[in-house]
Amino acid sequence: MNIHEYQGKEILRQYGVAVPKGHVAFSPEEAVNAAKNLNSDVVVVKAQIHAGGRGKAGGVKIARNLEEVRAYAKELLGKILVTHQTGPEGKEIKRLYIEQGSNIKKEYYLSLLVDRQTSRVTLMGSEEGGMNIEEVAAETPEKIFTEVIDPVVGLTGFQARRLAFNINIPAKLINKAAKLMLGLYDAFIEKDASIVEINPLAITAEDEVLALDAKFNFDGNALYRHRDIVELRDFNEEDPKEIEASKYDLSYIALDGSIGCMVNGAGLAMATMDTISYYGGSPANFLDVGGGASAEKVKEAFKIILSDKQVKGIFVNIFGGIMKCDIIAEGVVKAASELGLQVPLVVRLEGTNVLEGRKILNESGLNIVAATSLADGAEKIVKLVG
Ligand code: ADP
Ligand code: MG
Repeated sequence: MNIHEYQGKEILRQYGVAVPKGHVAFSPEEAVNAAKNLNSDVVVVKAQIHAGGRGKAGGVKIARNLEEVRAYAKELLGKILVTHQTGPEGKEIKRLYIEQGSNIKKEYYLSLLVDRQTSRVTLMGSEEGGMNIEEVAAETPEKIFTEVIDPVVGLTGFQARRLAFNINIPAKLINKAAKLMLGLYDAFIEKDASIVEINPLAITAEDEVLALDAKFNFDGNALYRHRDIVELRDFNEEDPKEIEASKYDLSYIALDGSIGCMVNGAGLAMATMDTISYYGGSPANFLDVGGGASAEKVKEAFKIILSDKQVKGIFVNIFGGIMKCDIIAEGVVKAASELGLQVPLVVRLEGTNVLEGRKILNESGLNIVAATSLADGAEKIVKLVG
């Protein structure tokens, strides 16, 4: 789960991580009041969307007086911001963060993440801050430094200072930077985050070390013990189909292709998407209905696919193990009878209760194209969609 920058900074404050003062605003009026409250000569007006790259896309504005704050707030609110992370459709700006302007001397990069290779939380830093870290990794990987954190000991002061030293934080500010890193680590662990990224971490002319941006990602499996975090969820930022899917505990990710896929098992779902691409088609979604799904859940999953306007054909590819083929068939038939089926449907069923499943589909009166294998099914649906 993601949250907005201003919400992330609120969490950082609780852990003693230095961030500039700021207030959220939903209207130009609120933006001006927020700016008055800050008592600062320079105020930054920042678009709040769940995507980075706002600065380059014109979503971060420096205002020198209240009139400029109002003008920028008017300009940004309601605007569709397209950044390299939003995709071409962009995201509508519905909230702003009005923040004290900082007198930046230099920008650094700092993050905490779970490194799958070492199975450890890792602190990562670079003196190439403010820009795309993927670019730094590709062009100057020697400028990225890491500290692998022992889960029992936690991040040590020594490691934090070593990272600060490696990324060339000025000597007199190393202790401040290390304190910030230790606070960041506590926030990461206690809130069950999976990523915390501070880009940029800034040092200022007044010798402060400040988190100027904050990106948090939380482990969905741990949200049950973080009500405060769940409350920060902003449904405006999520795909309505994904919200619907999460109600039924389905692993569903919306994509931009035209072939709806209903598959059980994440591995088979990936293979199905690959095979569709191999035959020249493009999947409209990733969907793993899981092992123990009921006919009801399958029905809801199928309805989500059917309601997607981009879907020009559907491929159901099920290998019945724990999941039984007749349950899938029942769910598909129920959903199709409720919403109607206007697009071609290719079904490949194998495994547990396959004969019962085929029988339900055959007797449903639905126009179904049967497939004998994954490749056969993928080829057929790509041809039918055209
Ligand atoms: P994004 O990563 O989405 O582009 P950031 O929050 O990193 O958004 O802001 C982009 C840039 O704007 C920063 O690299 C920094 O140079 C500048 N900036 C952001 N917040 C402030 C601030 N409070 N004071 C001064 N400059 C800022
Ligand atoms: Mg940033």
